[in-house]
Order: sequence, then C-alpha cells, then structure tokens
Amino acid sequence: MNLTDLKALEERYLMHTYRRAPVEFVRGEGALLWDSEGKEHLDFLGGISVCSVGHCNPDVVEAVRDQAGRLMHTSNLFYTEPMVRLAERLAESSLGGRVFFSNSGAEANECAIKIARKHAHRRGVEAPEIVSFDRDFHGRTYGALAATPRLAADPALGPMLPGFRAAPFDDAAALREAVGESTAAVLIEPIQGESGVYPLSDETLLAARKACDEVGALLILDEIQTGMGRTGSLWAYEQTPVRPDVFTSAKALGGGMPIGACVTTPEAGEVLEPGDHGSTFAGGPVACAAALAVLDIVDDPGLLRRVRELGAGLREGLLALDGVVEVRGRGLMLGVGLEAGVDAAAVAADLLDRGLVVNVPEPGTIRLLPPLTVESDQVERAVATIGTALISYAA
Ligand code: PLP
Repeated sequence: MNLTDLKALEERYLMHTYRRAPVEFVRGEGALLWDSEGKEHLDFLGGISVCSVGHCNPDVVEAVRDQAGRLMHTSNLFYTEPMVRLAERLAESSLGGRVFFSNSGAEANECAIKIARKHAHRRGVEAPEIVSFDRDFHGRTYGALAATPRLAADPALGPMLPGFRAAPFDDAAALREAVGESTAAVLIEPIQGESGVYPLSDETLLAARKACDEVGALLILDEIQTGMGRTGSLWAYEQTPVRPDVFTSAKALGGGMPIGACVTTPEAGEVLEPGDHGSTFAGGPVACAAALAVLDIVDDPGLLRRVRELGAGLREGLLALDGVVEVRGRGLMLGVGLEAGVDAAAVAADLLDRGLVVNVPEPGTIRLLPPLTVESDQVERAVATIGTALISYAA
C-alpha cells in the first residue's frame, strides 16, 4: 500500500485527533528510521521520548521475543516474575517504596491522583485539591486532563473533575499561595516537556516541597518525559534538591512497549488498598520484560554520563547556529528557541525533508529527544542539518 492509499484510509477510518506528517516509517535501528520509499532519517524525536535505547534495540527485542513466546498475559489475579522484578528495580533505584503499574503515562498519573486524594481524606480533608502549573501536561484521561490547565480550559470537553487548581509556571510565591489545608498534592513536571521544554527552578521545587510538608500534602513529580535517563540521571529529580513522595514514569520505560508506573515512598505506598485500583493489562509480562531490558541499559553511570556530555555538546552546537536564540532543558531533552518570526513548523517540515525527525511543541520551539544511545557523529549531523535548514529562515 503506498502513502497516498494509507492517507485515504486513515482519513476515512481513524478519528481525526492527530495531524500526521506525510511519511510512513517502516523500519528502525538505533537512531535511524527508514520510510516506505527507502529514505533514511535521523530520529531526534525518539517516538516522543520513548525510544531511548534506540529503535529495535537487540536486547529489548530479545527480551520481548523470549517473553512473548512463553507467556503474554495472565491478569493481575496471579503472580508473574517480570512484574515483581521490575517493581523491585524501580523502587530500589528511587524512593524505596512501592509501585503500581499502568499501560500509559496518563494512567500512571491517575494512580498518583488517587493516592493523593485518599491520603488527603485520611488527613480529614473533605474536598482535596491538586495543584499544578499552567502549561503543565499530565495526560488526556479526565483526571490527568484536569491537571493539564491549558487543555482543561476547553469548555467543549467539560465538565472537568473538580479539585484541580493551577499556579503560574515556576512562580514559587504563587505556588505557596495556592497550597493550603485542602491541598492533597502538588503534581508538576520537573521540566515541562509538551509545552516547549521549560525546566522548573530549584527555588520553586524547594518551595513546592516545603509547602507540601507544611500541610501534609504529597509532592508528585511527573517524570513521564524526564525519567529513565533522559536528563542524564535515571530520574530528573536526582539533579534537583528535592525528593518527591510519588513520581510517575512511562514513555521510555518500556523501550516502545506500552507501560507506565506510579512509584512511591514507603509511606505513600501504603495508601491504596485491595479494591482501590486496578488494570487488566498493567504489569503484563511482555511489557515488564522489555522494561527490565531497558533498565539494564539506561541504569548505568557510564551511559548517564554520556547523556550529559552529548547533551552539553548538542546544546553548544545549536547555540552557535544563526537563528537559534536559546536552548533549554537538560541532558538529551532540549528545546531550541528560534529567532522571533522564524516559523518553527516550517523548519521542522524542512528538516523532515532533509531526513531529520524533530517536533514543534509550541510556536518558535523545536524539541529534540534523540535516543540516549545516539552516536556523537549523529549529533554532529543533526546540528549541521538544523544549521543548513535555518539559513533560509533566519534573519
Ligand atoms: N505526562 C507527561 C509529562 C507527558 O509528556 C505525557 C505525554 O506526552 C503524559 C504525561 C501522558 O502520557 P501518555 O501519552 O502515555 O498517556
């Protein structure tokens, strides 16, 4: 089937919720993708921070093949070893408490929201509130959506869940003001990803931690995009002065298999009890086997150091280009701010023509989320391609 036929079928049979680029990818290896016309692309989007160990990483493929050939699903009514081993690995690499598995990032946040509300009720709070930042993105299910102020403001999708409140981004004083006796949790991204790669300052993170501690609320960090080594540490919070009570992971966790996790401290891990939460597919052996293989690769000080070094080199190379005014982010999660008036969407389309895959999370910003295993000559190639494309757009 050629691309024209695919487009026609997609137009007819899929709900019109996505704007897709005019390309069909058929194969991937490492940081490279090939389209249906045989053209090679360098993937600096990594399936939106999912393919962090590269496309079709042989260890992940082997783990999936092996597990799929033995046992794919039993439900959570029974024990399976990959799930238990993965929970141990996630807990021991972070907060030391417990894990609830999900199938996506939004669902991991649903679990965190449920923990926060129940935890608040135990404190005697009747109408618990979750505080997030303007322009945060936590997902599309109704709980996660309610914590995503920009999307929750759409009246066509209402009514929203009650009990959510937004504070201006990175405003420590406003956050302190928003947190009170009825606050169940502050749910925030350590680096906003979908809204354009905006890191939260240490000052605001410390203010959030302190405000939560004062009222007995939980600090929940959404590490769905920042986690699993993306910023140069296994979890982004490790490079900040705070430790959350709960964090959520998904995206890169399964190396392409759908899986999410809500990870807690020992105390927060005691909140949910039998019957409080569940999922048919979550924690399935194939997704967990994939995630264990991914962790074997990314939970490695050498790889994490390399992410920081490659990220620093990428940032330096980008900042030297005409048309680039700033580079935000950490490790290999970078937002490239373009000169005023440069049409980032047109640049991204041009880059796709030139065989470099990126995306545009907001007007004026190009987002780069390459595989963490990207080669240094591929980083140089990406910078050169962006530089060449920008020549025709920059003033
Ligand atoms: N939270 C953050 C920070 C995200 O970047 C995303 C997805 O982009 C989500 C939550 C939602 O994850 P999912 O699309 O897997 O539901």
